[in-house]
Amino acid sequence: MVSFYGGVHRGSIDAIRREYRLARRFIHPCGAMNLEGPGAGVYTHLLPFILTGQSKGTGVVGVPSTEQRLSGWGRLNPELCSVHRPEKHRTVREAVEQAGGTLLARGLGRSYGDAAVNGGGGVVDMTRLNRLLAFDAESGVVECEAGVSLADLVAAFLPRGWFLPVTPGTKFVTVGGAIAHDIHGKNHHRDGTFGQFVREFKLLIANGETISCSRKENQDVFWATIGGAGLTGIILSASVRLQPVESAYYLVDYRRAKNLEDALRIFAETDEKYQYSVAWIDCLARGGSLGRSVLMLGNSAPVSALPAHLRNNPLCPREKRKTNVPVDMPELLLNPLSMKIYNTLFHARNPERDGAVVDFDTYYYPLDSVHNWNRLYGKRGFAQFQATVPPEGVAALVQILERISATKSGFLGVLKAMGEQNEGLLSHPIKGYTLTLDIPNHGKLGPFLHGLDEILLAHGGRIYLAKDAVSRPETLEAMYPRLKQFRAVKAKVDPERRFDSSQARRLGITGD
Ligand SMILES: Cc1cc2nc3c(=O)[nH]c(=O)nc-3n(C[C@H](O)[C@H](O)[C@H](O)COP(=O)(O)OP(=O)(O)OC[C@H]3O[C@@H](n4cnc5c(N)ncnc54)[C@H](O)[C@@H]3O)c2cc1C
Repeated sequence: MVSFYGGVHRGSIDAIRREYRLARRFIHPCGAMNLEGPGAGVYTHLLPFILTGQSKGTGVVGVPSTEQRLSGWGRLNPELCSVHRPEKHRTVREAVEQAGGTLLARGLGRSYGDAAVNGGGGVVDMTRLNRLLAFDAESGVVECEAGVSLADLVAAFLPRGWFLPVTPGTKFVTVGGAIAHDIHGKNHHRDGTFGQFVREFKLLIANGETISCSRKENQDVFWATIGGAGLTGIILSASVRLQPVESAYYLVDYRRAKNLEDALRIFAETDEKYQYSVAWIDCLARGGSLGRSVLMLGNSAPVSALPAHLRNNPLCPREKRKTNVPVDMPELLLNPLSMKIYNTLFHARNPERDGAVVDFDTYYYPLDSVHNWNRLYGKRGFAQFQATVPPEGVAALVQILERISATKSGFLGVLKAMGEQNEGLLSHPIKGYTLTLDIPNHGKLGPFLHGLDEILLAHGGRIYLAKDAVSRPETLEAMYPRLKQFRAVKAKVDPERRFDSSQARRLGITGD
């Protein structure tokens, strides 16, 4: 094991960035990581309070905090929270020991609803606990603090031939957030969730103790925390097994499906052949074209398959230009016509082809190139609805797509075939299919989404806590049969329910 230390952050934000860059250069042959991306410096206005130990907030005596209105990525219903931004394990522990009310860890705030919000309570922003601690170049196991982002891991390890074993559609999520929602990616049908690659983590629990959790030690807490939405305690650090890669590129075959049935057929016929698969669905298509989509089926590219100009430097693709949405867009911009044009163009611009060489950023993270893209939905925000159904519940997807296309507002959705369920008590994936759709908030979002929940319930499906913003307790209870076991572990490690969230209260996750 090699040990890395990012050093203790002190001084101005510039000094912190300099120090951070130096630390990253030390381990990153391609140069410094991107510190200008979303999430970086988001809370810089809090720095004076953190550095001087002053407190603007009310939550915890001696541990600085500030009052902020927080929401999820969908920007629905911001709530006032007392935010702490510690940089050391000791300060996190002090926050837990001294907190008068409830607390919740928060990563980069990329969950869509209120899973990372604790209205009226304390929130521990973990993004300054972002040090890489150790790396075993034999096994690819990296040990890092929970606030390290997946973008950090890619920047540090891709140039060395290691990539994330599982990644969501954005790299701006923390390791803590990835564990707490047991995230999945395009390879779920083959490799399962992020939790499957977590060897061990250190969890700070309500009595101030830090416990090690793994498949052998505190096994029940391990599987309650993987997918447990931050409700068992605060993950301080974790060991995660990375995956060896020869290059930063993928060989992608594009297939067009004329409707949902066709898309599912292609998944069934090809999922053996491809490690990664996903379909982008035109949510506005109707009738015989309902669910028409473009499937992107890929495998990691060996160096020998790359064109000559990429072979010299296969692990460091050129960085993409980024754009920004500086302000909230007027809601008028996203009207039925503009969405229809966008979806039609997307379909037209993606003809069937084989063996396209696509870099990892383009393949996994197309939305990351537009900073603050969530502002496109305007001030009122949006919800993301993720419907996961067993193979026999596909009729639910048809009904959901029919309801969405009838609203005439919806960009592309994402469809994916899912593999086996793991042991996470609240981990969301089950074998079958998952459909993800953005739904603009034109008012009446609650009743509309409750209607979709009912369709799901009737077909044995489930929602995903990382996306949920409005569901009801009875829905969750019916969809997650292991909820009782989760509550039992919660009662053991946090009998007074010190760790809580707006979502947990709304859904009654931890009990009545
Ligand atoms: C563009 C986009 C694409 C996405 N694509 C996918 C996808 O393909 N697959 C997928 O599964 N998800 C996807 N997501 C959702 C995202 O991966 C999850 O919501 C993830 O949990 C966000 O991580 P975060 O660091 O932003 O955590 P936050 O959103 O800040 O928090 C999420 C949860 O983790 C808990 N948490 C955070 N840090 C800790 C910690 N240190 N200890 C304990 N609990 C903690 C919080 O309490 C909260 O419950 C996507 C999100 C976006 C915005």
